[in-house]
Amino acid sequence: MSATLHEHVAVDISSVAGQGVLAAARIAAGTVVVTFDAPVSTVTDFGSLNHSCDPDLGWDGATTLVALRDVAAGEELTADYSTAITDREFVLRCHCPSSRCRQMVTGDDWQIRQLQQRYAGHWHPDVQRRIDEAPPAA
Ligand SMILES: [Zn+2]
Repeated sequence: MSATLHEHVAVDISSVAGQGVLAAARIAAGTVVVTFDAPVSTVTDFGSLNHSCDPDLGWDGATTLVALRDVAAGEELTADYSTAITDREFVLRCHCPSSRCRQMVTGDDWQIRQLQQRYAGHWHPDVQRRIDEAPPAA
């Protein structure tokens, strides 16, 4: 698995953990930021891209992440791993600074209705299919 990054994006020291993907210049909402060479479904597939419970990237197809909002130079680019991972074994302890931090990020988080609404239109297509097929919550 390899990823192509937007020209204004570089792998650098992260404020989240180890390495991360950072904006070297302002990136406008809707810009294609990361293009993977194969569909993403595991943590390893994300490479240097860190998880956040309040991410600035979301899916536009199975291999493309776009900016969900304007990103300032120096900001870290992150994705919510649960938008692509539905492995029931997947558990990530998160300490991201967001007030939305779920602390335990799991492969079942796609079932959380608040998240379904927040990331509407920006789920990985395989996960979106599950959401569409899941019976509506009571
Ligand atoms: Zn978090």
